[in-house]
Amino acid sequence: MIVGIPQEIKNNESRVGMTPGGVFELTKNNHTVYVQSGAGLGSGFSNEDYQQAGAAILDTIAQVYAMSDMIVKVKEPIEEEYNLIREGQILFTYFHFASSEALTKAMIKQKAICIAYETVEDNDGTLPLLTPMSEVAGRMAIQQGAKYLEKPVKGRGVLLGGVPGVAPGKVLVLGAGVVGVQAAKMAAGLGAHVTILDVNMKRLRYVNDVMPPHVTTEFSNEFNIRKHIKTHDLIIGGVLLKGAKAPNLITRDMLKEMKPGTVIVDVAVDQGGCVETTKPTTHQDPIYIIDDVVHYSVANMPGAVPYTSTMALTNVTLPYTLKLANLGWQAACEQDASLHKGLNIVSGKIVYNEIIEAFGWEE
Ligand code: NAD
Repeated sequence: MIVGIPQEIKNNESRVGMTPGGVFELTKNNHTVYVQSGAGLGSGFSNEDYQQAGAAILDTIAQVYAMSDMIVKVKEPIEEEYNLIREGQILFTYFHFASSEALTKAMIKQKAICIAYETVEDNDGTLPLLTPMSEVAGRMAIQQGAKYLEKPVKGRGVLLGGVPGVAPGKVLVLGAGVVGVQAAKMAAGLGAHVTILDVNMKRLRYVNDVMPPHVTTEFSNEFNIRKHIKTHDLIIGGVLLKGAKAPNLITRDMLKEMKPGTVIVDVAVDQGGCVETTKPTTHQDPIYIIDDVVHYSVANMPGAVPYTSTMALTNVTLPYTLKLANLGWQAACEQDASLHKGLNIVSGKIVYNEIIEAFGWEE
């Protein structure tokens, strides 16, 4: 199969659909890989890196789309790309169709085979192609939180690890899922005292088993949240209700209960956030302050660390990319139930019911 890796042209996106390591595996399996010139630069990969791995470099995005049977990307195609997509071409990328009617209509019109990373689902209901981005965001949340706790950026002026003779900072983590556990691990590593809340006892048992004693677990309810926000310096929002808006666990009135300079990093911002005052921000302008509480709510946190994020993404997408290339999309999806769940739009027809429901369209 001929596989194409175009440059991401969405604003502020420096990740790329495949690393040179991924290209190496594909060419080893006798597939042809075309990479757009410069596509990997934002993630630290040169044209030469891709050539050495076996890819051929094409000058323009139009050439990559025109010459490839399958396009492997990171973000959904944007308007400039719509007309480059050909009937029957496989697109393997994040789409998030339910949040864009225009994109959905465009992909129906182009009659492509749209396989969405975010709906590839394992037997146990986990989403293997979303997990690495949550891992990145969870770990990064502590890095960002520690930075914004500094006084010159209006934080409390607390060093998370403390120093000998001074108690460490306190981190409250809402949600003990992928984001929450990675955040707790990083905070604990810095020496902070960590409290992690969830409604799922299995998750709390797991955290209790694997974390050091300065990470404590408690059940998530309003009483406990109101108690802890008064004493914690950094609050991480990592709550997810699958397919729904995140619940507002911290309401506007609670901000007044917090110490001035408390920092909230609401990672769940992409699902509306678990803090009432959360609104999406960007890496250019990541924070705002309400009632002396610093809010950080960047919707694409992994975009700031494209090297790590691209590597982490290719690690999990490559086995599926290889399967699609080796078998073709029909046989690959027949053989692999997880991949089958990734099928969203096939030759002009929506095959993933949640998209139809999201727009209130008739089936
Ligand atoms: P996950 O499903 O692994 O974990 C979510 C956890 O929230 C679960 O353990 C669940 O039991 C818990 N939860 C549900 N209701 C709760 C409540 N009332 N109180 C406390 N916990 C509760 O999800 P995840 O992969 O960790 O993702 C978390 C969020 O982060 C998602 O919205 C995801 O889209 C988002 N995310 C954002 C970025 C970004 O750049 N901002 C990047 C990656 C992920």
